[in-house]
Amino acid sequence: MSSSTPYLPPVVFSTPNAPNSNDPRVLIAPSRYIQGDGILDHLGRYLSIVPSKCAAILFSEGGQRRFGERVSKSLNNAQVDSMWVTFQGECSYEEVYRVEEILRAEATPVDSVIALGGGKCIDTARFVAHRLDIKAVICPSLASNDAPCAALSVMYKPDGVFKGVEFFPNSPALVVIDSRIVAEAPARYLVSGMGDAMATWYEARTCLHNPKARNVLGARPTLAASAIGELCANTLFEYGLSASEAVKRSEVDDAVERIVEANTLLSGIGFESGGLAGAHSVAQSLTVVPRVHHSYLHGEMVAIGLLTQLNLEGREDEGKKVAEFFAKIGLPVHLEQVSLSPTNDTELDDVMEAAMTLPILRNEPFEVTKKSLLSAVFQAHEMGLEIERSFGKTAYDSLHHS
Ligand SMILES: [Zn+2]
Repeated sequence: MSSSTPYLPPVVFSTPNAPNSNDPRVLIAPSRYIQGDGILDHLGRYLSIVPSKCAAILFSEGGQRRFGERVSKSLNNAQVDSMWVTFQGECSYEEVYRVEEILRAEATPVDSVIALGGGKCIDTARFVAHRLDIKAVICPSLASNDAPCAALSVMYKPDGVFKGVEFFPNSPALVVIDSRIVAEAPARYLVSGMGDAMATWYEARTCLHNPKARNVLGARPTLAASAIGELCANTLFEYGLSASEAVKRSEVDDAVERIVEANTLLSGIGFESGGLAGAHSVAQSLTVVPRVHHSYLHGEMVAIGLLTQLNLEGREDEGKKVAEFFAKIGLPVHLEQVSLSPTNDTELDDVMEAAMTLPILRNEPFEVTKKSLLSAVFQAHEMGLEIERSFGKTAYDSLHHS
């Protein structure tokens, strides 16, 4: 297993050096996706789908306290043997190799790795499963981003600095998301997931209409992935506000179920198979400012990235519609809401430099320069300030100062 460069998939679908519109269209998705209120109690039964009779569960100490008893009971009832491995907190190569060694030393070989936790725990388990050639079972405890369904892991150095992306040939064998657990987490996570999910359609559309654009697999997107992205955006506009209010009361209702599916399944298939563009270029680049990286969630950075992309593409009306929605649910709509100042040239310059190096930025249908990207950032910032004047910042404040 070699470590790959960020955003380069393992199989090359494009015509080398001359991508053209006849290149294959590729879609990937997890083999099974199960979502529902309280379904973690049925995990053992669902493992027969994988199938798995001897599973390793990777979760943090906190996760073990919260879910350990429930999961063990469910697996015991289904006659699935299991062992616990404590996740140390960072998705690094060191952590992957450590967990792999523990599992290799087991007398009875495990046939699946269950990740129960947030994005980094999931990404670690997925990589370990690939290295041991066993099945990955993903049980996200949050709906804060679109990673659970993917066939890739975002890798960090042990100190938390972004290192690269590993791509795997197989998507998870099973994704099980308990909407009750998601609803009981702080509302900021679900709201952040809506920022990540909202970008899915606008980035997929850009990739669909630009024959030179490639999805995360390095292939042309299918119509199916674009349609899933569009459904994702429509679901957010219709049910997002209601779901954000329900989770503030820790309630699961129909709106919450729809948004959990939008954030996890629709956005997951949509981004991986539909393709990424300007929004994620900016979001990924914002992490070069350590203060931003440590204080804001991925979806919050994608929110700023999406408003930038829509301005870059000259779609101001759509930008306003999206920014209004973001302001209502509490996502950032201008630079100050991710602790950046429009007058701090050094920081913004670093962000622009980083964005220019990302191949996904070249999925935009025209040449993007540092100057044009920066001016789109400023345009988005001004638009966000105007939206804040009209719609207030109560929702944002309620998620960030409580
Ligand atoms: Zn994302």
